Amino acid sequence: MLDKTSLLAGSARFDLCGACSQAAGGRQRSVDDRWIYPAALPDGRTIRLLKVLQTNVCTKDCQYCENRASRDVRRESFSPEELAKLFLSLHRADKAGGLFLSSGVAGRADTVMARMIATAEILRRRHRFHGYIHMKILPGASRAAIERAAQLSNRISINLEAPGPGRLERIAGEKDFLRELLPQTEWIQQVVADPKTRANSHTTQFVVGASGESDREILKWTDWLYKGRGLYRAYYSAYEVPDEDTRLDAPPTPLMREHRLYQSDFLLRKYGFGLDELVFEGTGDLSLKVDPKERWAQEHAEWFPVEILTAPQELLLRVPGLGPVSAKRICSWRRQNGLRGPDDLRKAGLVLKKAAPYLLLKGKPLPIQPSQLALPFSSDSPIPSLAGDLQITPGSNVQVTGARRWLRVPWPRRCTG
Ligand code: SF4
Repeated sequence: MLDKTSLLAGSARFDLCGACSQAAGGRQRSVDDRWIYPAALPDGRTIRLLKVLQTNVCTKDCQYCENRASRDVRRESFSPEELAKLFLSLHRADKAGGLFLSSGVAGRADTVMARMIATAEILRRRHRFHGYIHMKILPGASRAAIERAAQLSNRISINLEAPGPGRLERIAGEKDFLRELLPQTEWIQQVVADPKTRANSHTTQFVVGASGESDREILKWTDWLYKGRGLYRAYYSAYEVPDEDTRLDAPPTPLMREHRLYQSDFLLRKYGFGLDELVFEGTGDLSLKVDPKERWAQEHAEWFPVEILTAPQELLLRVPGLGPVSAKRICSWRRQNGLRGPDDLRKAGLVLKKAAPYLLLKGKPLPIQPSQLALPFSSDSPIPSLAGDLQITPGSNVQVTGARRWLRVPWPRRCTG
């Protein structure tokens, strides 16, 4: 059983399922909890998720995936009873608060989904488990299967993997983007919008750099999914060569590319940016050297400097180095207490080293000495526009002041299902 758990939980690590990381509070993982991932839920709570596959048997041959059909690896499956029992033992031992359930596609999607659904039904009905379940919708799943999954789960997701049918065909020839993925996103949207359904959000994931796609292509699809499909979050997973037998000849994708996509995604979702405002280089990719908001500011000098005493929140959000929390704090602090000088900025807890060149205070440049301010990141950090609010994105590279090298927030990679 331990072998099977190791195999099927290990194979699920590539699926990004929310704000989860592999680092369990920095502590050493024991055998029992190595497949448990701390995750932040939309309501702000943190939960420990067991991430596991119902089976790693798969008839599809996605070239980026270690579970693909052509690969000679040990195959295992959990019965619904076995998997429910495993989860409950971890739950009762206070090791796992929730379940992330995915699967290889062993035959018809609905047949596999029926086993995943049966696992969730055992937990919900027989054992009265009311906690968090995130269930992966498999490509080709029927509307009925999606509805049942959504009744039992708190969140569901389907991975598009690539921006569009042409791109997907290059890396996962057996998946039919237009028949097995796109209609499902519409059904998922409709099902999740039903207030009677337990699941109230849905996500997707892209493999970045495997199909020769550009960042512009990926973000175009992401933007469309946010607007047209009510997507809650898109996740980006930099391509890693799964093994030497893969037919893909793409090199591994730099983690910074994944990070720039997350930053741009934040701009679309939280900063009021439109897709057409993002600055892409000639290749259609984002700059790896400059973060997307700073790159936009470089192209729009006419917007700056901004008067910190009067600028509306939406304008403050355009300032590199200011995030939603900082912009909101500036507005509330100046309304309640007034902003008279650098002392007030410090009292308000604002980190403005990066933003200072873009701001005026009473018509004058901010007389801010970097040493006056508590900086959470070094000045050349690639993420200050987000770090201003301490929003460290999934899979991001973080350079902590004083650290000698880049630290990657160690997120699991690659998808299944
Ligand atoms: S990504 Fe999913 S469908 Fe594709 S080979 Fe891996 S497990 Fe199978």
